[in-house]
Amino acid sequence: MKIAIAGAGYVGLVTGACLADFGHDVVCIDKDEGRIAALRRGEIPIFEPDLAGLVATNLGAGRLSFTTDLAGAVAGAEVVFIAVGTPSRRGDGHADLSYVYAVAREVALSVSGFTVVATKSTVPVGTGDEVARIIAAANPEADVAVVSNPEFLREGAAIEDFKRPDRIVVGIEDERARVVMTEVYRPLYLNQAPLVFTGRRTAEMIKYAANAFLAMKITFINEMADLCEAAGADVQQVARGMGLDNRIGSKFLHAGPGFGGSCFPKDTQALVRIGEDFGSPMRLVETTIAINEQRKRAMARRVIAACGGEVRGKVIGVLGLTFKPNTDDMREAPSIDIVRGLLDKGARVVAYDPQGMVAARELIEGLEFGESAYDVAEGADALVLVTEWNEFRSLDLARLKDAMAAPVLVDLRNVYRHDEVARHGFAYTSIGRPAGA
Ligand code: NAD
Repeated sequence: MKIAIAGAGYVGLVTGACLADFGHDVVCIDKDEGRIAALRRGEIPIFEPDLAGLVATNLGAGRLSFTTDLAGAVAGAEVVFIAVGTPSRRGDGHADLSYVYAVAREVALSVSGFTVVATKSTVPVGTGDEVARIIAAANPEADVAVVSNPEFLREGAAIEDFKRPDRIVVGIEDERARVVMTEVYRPLYLNQAPLVFTGRRTAEMIKYAANAFLAMKITFINEMADLCEAAGADVQQVARGMGLDNRIGSKFLHAGPGFGGSCFPKDTQALVRIGEDFGSPMRLVETTIAINEQRKRAMARRVIAACGGEVRGKVIGVLGLTFKPNTDDMREAPSIDIVRGLLDKGARVVAYDPQGMVAARELIEGLEFGESAYDVAEGADALVLVTEWNEFRSLDLARLKDAMAAPVLVDLRNVYRHDEVARHGFAYTSIGRPAGA
């Protein structure tokens, strides 16, 4: 099939590379000329495991190409995916749909023959109706079926998630699109991935409902962690005991510094706004957002407490900056609030992250950088483990202690065991675990 994808970011690029790998003929379009030029040279503008190899293979096989020319790419396509960003609109938290609508207008003028326009971007309920209206208004001749095909991939495991999804959701209002979208995903369908067809509005809602639920689940276990600390219970064992219940499930029950990233914060905000627009408040989600915001700031206070209540003039080493491991994505990462909270109280903060330092340099004024965990530990009054990259999972504790000015370890991801760290002479703080766990 001939497929065009507008937006070559995390979602568009992964979608393009995977669909090309299935054997489709894919053109990825981006308005960012530098990004397209780099991609044509085989350089990948984001860090995502295995993506570079997949892009190179499919570029080489002639199934994948990159362009800034949307009109040319769309003209021959049977399916056009919209995978541009839908960030929080400045000021009010609504999803900013201007990029989606701009693509819809351009697509309308270039389609030829029956074309499915599938929105992969996360968009509020009713956006598909507006995309259809925009296309019809811009080109009354266009024969288009607008589909909602939300994406559920996780950064850091995006290719695996795309190729082995739990489900594929496709919201349609035009039966002709069912055949086309089944053909797009046929290689996955053969692997038994459930293809869930719904109405378009329902598909749009499923994406927000799923993300908000996961954000709530994380926030629930984070609050439980605080209660466990106060009551002398161990949140990790609580999570395990809960998660073994199939009705609950063990995923997203890891207590930590609060959720971040490019999706949960903006999608929970947008769902609250959608609820307001429809006069149907999303109170659980509102509370989830508020708790999470407070939590990120509380993490800086936790570090300060571990340092004896004062960090002015002290050096704090930070391990990990991205919102989770295996990505370079710094959007809304809890590290931003934590580092700012420490800088505000007069600390010097030196951080190391395997992939996030380029983006962090732009985002956090005053933050300094080291070249490794051990480099960051040099002369530090405390080390804070913020993101659980694999390389932070089995650090040489004796070497760290020797390098540091004071042996204080604040482990916001519960990577280490208390007894192991204490044996090396560290004062150890983790999340929701009593001393000794
Ligand atoms: P991104 O910011 O990484 O990429 C968006 C790309 O679209 C950019 O490269 C931008 O230059 C390009 N673009 C913007 N306007 C354009 C236009 N008119 N024509 C061509 N290109 C244009 O965004 P992302 O993280 O890939 O997210 C895209 C959408 O997918 C969002 O709605 C997001 O919520 C959703 N989503 C993201 C993830 C994720 O993990 N990142 C997962 C599921 C869903």
